Amino acid sequence: MSPSEAVGFAVGLTGGIGSGKTAVADMFALQGAAIVDSDAIAHALTAPGGAAIAAIAERFGDQYIGADGALDRQRMRERVFADASAKAALESILHPRIRELAIGQAAAARRHSPYVIFVVPLLIESGGWRDRVDRILLVDCSPATQEARVCARNRFDATLVRTIIAQQARRSERLQAADDVLVNEGPLDQLRPRVEWLHRSYCEYARGSADRL
Ligand code: ATP
Repeated sequence: MSPSEAVGFAVGLTGGIGSGKTAVADMFALQGAAIVDSDAIAHALTAPGGAAIAAIAERFGDQYIGADGALDRQRMRERVFADASAKAALESILHPRIRELAIGQAAAARRHSPYVIFVVPLLIESGGWRDRVDRILLVDCSPATQEARVCARNRFDATLVRTIIAQQARRSERLQAADDVLVNEGPLDQLRPRVEWLHRSYCEYARGSADRL
């Protein structure tokens, strides 16, 4: 059975930093969609005893593993910010493991949910994900809104947030790749009717794709 047959109908939910992916995923979960969060999986892989820790220590050295056995995120962030080949090496360790675990979680969730939503911040940037989802749902807002939200949430300064935004796909690229767009500029409650409408559409698509199998 191929990964897509195991998973069934799959939506990739993406958007820039602070656009509101988690908030939107929570709304879909309330509707009954299964949510598989790639960031949460990455976190578990690099937590104490996580399945990627040994490979990271082997490639980068023990100095990147903290006393508690978790990845030293701050140290690694500084390294990959400054070194593209280190970034690629870290991704080559994490991405295949994230995908494998995500597919496993989605296959398990299929028993109690009509379809699955993979929350993938860098979906547009990553060919591996684009090919595995049936629809791309974009949470979109202006860079100014992203900046204000992330500064408020993380207490980051604006320059750091702008640097992160500049390293991600451009807003126009995301909009071009998306099948569905949720504009998240106003109050979150305003998104609810559109989330409900999209949920009903995805349930119908899922039924249609199951009938074709
Ligand atoms: P990241 O990419 O950094 O994980 P994200 O895309 O998952 O972020 P959220 O964590 O959902 O974004 O939202 C970022 C912050 O903005 C959170 O503190 C969230 O509560 C807030 N937020 C999201 N949408 C809105 C909104 N429409 N109105 C007000 N605050 C919002």
